Amino acid sequence: MTRTTAELMAFAEDLYYDLDFKSVKRWKVKTGGHAIGFMPVYAPREIVHAAGAMPVGIVGAGDWLEVIRGDAYYQSYLCHIPRSTIDMAESGRLDFLEGMLFPSTCDVIRNLSGMWQIVKPDMYTRYVDVPQNFTDGVGGQFWAHELRTLAQELGERTGTEVTDERLRASIALFNENRRAVCDLYSLRRDEPARAPTSEVYLMVRAGLVMDVEDHTALIREYITAARNITPPELDNARVIVVGAFCEQPPIGLIKSIERSGCFVVDDDLILISRWFTDNAAETGDPIEALALAFVHDSVPTAVMYSAKAGRGKAVVERVRVARAEGVIFAAPSFCTPALLDQPMLVAELDREGIPYTAFKFAENAGQFQPIREQTGTFADTMKLWSVA
Ligand code: SF4
Repeated sequence: MTRTTAELMAFAEDLYYDLDFKSVKRWKVKTGGHAIGFMPVYAPREIVHAAGAMPVGIVGAGDWLEVIRGDAYYQSYLCHIPRSTIDMAESGRLDFLEGMLFPSTCDVIRNLSGMWQIVKPDMYTRYVDVPQNFTDGVGGQFWAHELRTLAQELGERTGTEVTDERLRASIALFNENRRAVCDLYSLRRDEPARAPTSEVYLMVRAGLVMDVEDHTALIREYITAARNITPPELDNARVIVVGAFCEQPPIGLIKSIERSGCFVVDDDLILISRWFTDNAAETGDPIEALALAFVHDSVPTAVMYSAKAGRGKAVVERVRVARAEGVIFAAPSFCTPALLDQPMLVAELDREGIPYTAFKFAENAGQFQPIREQTGTFADTMKLWSVA
């Protein structure tokens, strides 16, 4: 029997608030599999999966964990996600993991991988140095080498060799998952009142702690359920939210943006769920397939240098595709990649006459009224402009 959107939301909310990762622990008992954590923004989940492990997204502790020990590791002028991650590690909450991957997102994550090795000296820990060169012969070759090494190491840890056949099967499953998530994003873009971002976000985020096939089925079920509702009639302003690709805003903040009169019709939340803009090849050498997908089809973000992406142009293109009226820059406080990127994006928006507003947040923020007033005023202003 197909569940309603409310029932699906209750399911996803349970996962969102569960800092004990019970869903992953249940999966481990049921399957005998392993669990390998990864930090934002991108990690090769297909390889983890092919090694017989669930790739588990560790995206901070939100606003429902009082961080005490994690604060002792870091200075005050830094984003919040490394503090809550260390706090969860220190408290034993992440002991169910057999390993942890730290992609080269920024210096904070690099530093965190070192802290992690101090806190968890016996756990498999790997700093994943993703390429910043996007030619096949340089970045592609480097990345293929990194992926082969990772596959070898993970296979030795889990006891499940990452064969070509297993990896091709994993690539196919994650391709299917990405298609489902993209279908959900398309539904929200076309009918945002039917699939609000506060729901879409929780649905997509659930994939960080679920088996990939179960998550694909969940997304498909939500799409079916959302198509069956009678959406409210709302005259909201269409916006895209940019900058929250790593530390995640509290769900209350997303709801506040929506309740202020905005339809969020594109975002970069949980970006790994749709990292490749095309499917990775499901035939041939699977390591090469993942490496080439990365250098050819990675979504443009602030954490990678890509001359090809042309960042300002990329955000303008996103605005056009989403038929958005404006851009909300929502970056974590002290997030160097997001905040360094912003002036380049703003310059291009200025050139194109696209309105924008900006604020910063922390994952544990508890006061949303000022943001609601800011985005509400922004939405009203855009509506007035569009009438004029
Ligand atoms: S929020 Fe920004 S600065 Fe902090 S770890 Fe993530 S990318 Fe790095």
